[in-house]
Amino acid sequence: MSETGSIKFTCDRVVVELSRFAGFDELNEYRRKLLRLGTIGIDRNGVGFGNLSVRNGATSRFYITGSGTGKLPELTPADCARVVAYHFARNWLQCEGPTDPSSESLTHAAVYESDPTTCAVIHCHDMKLWKALLHKVPTTPEKVEYGTSEMACAVRGLFDNTDVLKKKIFVMAGHEGGVVAFGKDLRSAFAQLTKERKKQKVRSRKDMQN
Ligand SMILES: [Zn+2]
Repeated sequence: MSETGSIKFTCDRVVVELSRFAGFDELNEYRRKLLRLGTIGIDRNGVGFGNLSVRNGATSRFYITGSGTGKLPELTPADCARVVAYHFARNWLQCEGPTDPSSESLTHAAVYESDPTTCAVIHCHDMKLWKALLHKVPTTPEKVEYGTSEMACAVRGLFDNTDVLKKKIFVMAGHEGGVVAFGKDLRSAFAQLTKERKKQKVRSRKDMQN
């Protein structure tokens, strides 16, 4: 149990070499774009933020960027992990690869499980967008922290109770700057993100004119 009473994220990893997987090149391509926007990377303390994943074919498995890879300009398959099983209530997952998966992997799992047509998920940090979208698009509750089993359940709840499937984007009130976009591939997930970013820019320019 952590200080907040949540079960700590744990992962059982089988160390195997990961070969280049379908969607790997796109993963780097969109990761580069996100790095340039500053919405993934490392903070002042050197702690990485943001993560991307792609579904492994038509299964419930997925590949996700590894923990602590935010500083890398380009990833190799060895910087990713393949999530093969998980349990939300236990905040546990099983994966394969040479690196640990992001501690936010279960949030991705909750999206894949809730929508079979989703094949790519982007979690990035964007303070301006987060503030603008908070409670305007589907939003997980403020008391729910990232990397907890409560977060995975809250994300599933959004699919049950909101129009997140249509919006393809949600924010995490309890995770400052935390935005999640998803779609049938990384291109459409990224497009959703940039569409919202553009809308907010237009709005702030209008605000300045008034
Ligand atoms: Zn985050």
